[in-house]
Formats: sequence, structure tokens, C-alpha cells
Amino acid sequence: MSKAKKAVILFSGGVDSTTVLYYAINKGYKCSCLLFDYDQRHKKEIKSALKIAKVVKAEHSIVKIFLPWSNDVLTNKDKKVPVHKILPKSVPPTYVPGRNALFLSYALSYAQSIKAEAIFIGVNAVDFSNYPDCTANFIKAYNGVLKALNTKIAVQTPLLKMNKAQIVKLGMKLNVPYEHTWTCYNGYSKPCMECDSCKLRAKGFKEAKLLDPALGKE
Ligand SMILES: [Zn+2]
Repeated sequence: MSKAKKAVILFSGGVDSTTVLYYAINKGYKCSCLLFDYDQRHKKEIKSALKIAKVVKAEHSIVKIFLPWSNDVLTNKDKKVPVHKILPKSVPPTYVPGRNALFLSYALSYAQSIKAEAIFIGVNAVDFSNYPDCTANFIKAYNGVLKALNTKIAVQTPLLKMNKAQIVKLGMKLNVPYEHTWTCYNGYSKPCMECDSCKLRAKGFKEAKLLDPALGKE
């Protein structure tokens, strides 16, 4: 019996990382999901991620990180999530400094210890929030780090050049259970529909001419 190739999935329970998880499974990878509790505004995304990891019966690990210096909107709960009429062209206050560099380093450690050959991350640089750690340049540089460490592990970014509509269309084809995903920066009982993250998600489903199965759910 041939052994399945293994991948670590950076998994937040949102649209992009869930689509990436289903993409990797579809490509034949045995996926291990890596979840982060970094004292973010709410735990809803972690609950979503756990639910989805169970649906696909993927192994998962939760890493708890504490950033005592954090002063961004996602980890400093005294700050309010901004509402923008149009998406900002500069780095917004929801950017957690170095977050993907931190996450990828944990993923590297996980991947080496379970002998995985790939790390999947759901970054995309089209419909995104201008985070500097979601760009092609950053991922290319991080792959350089993996090479310098003499590993054969590669960071894979299947969504990098896709817009949100293309991402949800791909996900629908792969039967992604978007009803279980959580995107909103706020942790209310329902998505706020005002934050940048909610707006990007809504734009994607609208442009794809699809209904978001997470909405209207009681
Ligand atoms: Zn929101």
C-alpha cells in the first residue's frame, strides 16, 4: 500500500483556508490542520475550524500563542474593528504584525516532525486586505527559508492569484461546507456584514452569483 503524501494546512475556519483544505484533500494529501489561538477577538473561528476538521476527519493541533506587545485591532480588544466604505489601499489596523511568518514557522516545525512535504496556506493577493504577509513575494521568500533549512517542504498557495469569486466557485465544486465557516472580524452571533472581511466575502459570493450558505442560518 502506498503511503499518502502529507500536508500541513494553516487553518482558520474561514473561506480561504477551508477551500485550501478541500483543495489539498482533492489533490490526494493526508491533511493535518494547524489552528491558532493567539488571543484573537473571538473564538468563533476556532470553533468553526474544529467543526470542519471533524467533518473531513483531519488530524488537528491547536497552538496557543501569546503576543504581549500586540497593539492591533484583532488582538487588542479595547480597539474597535474599523468600518471602511471602500477597502483600504494601505495596511489596515487589523494586520497582526508578522502573523503569517509566525504561523508558517509553526507549520514548518509540524511538517518536519510528521514528515509532511507541503504546507498549504490560503493567502490570496487579489481580494485581500493589503496584509504584507499575504503576497507572492513573502511566500517566495519563506520558501527560501525552507530551502535554507535543507528541507524538501514547500509552501503551496493555490489561491494566490484568484479573486474571492473564483475561490468560492472552486470551493462549491469541491463541496466546501461554507455554512460552517466564519469570516467576520467580530465575534457576534451573526456576521456583522460591515467589516472588511465580511465585505470581501459578500463581494465574492455576489460576483460568483452564489448564495452564501452561512447567511440566513439561524
Ligand atoms: Zn464582519
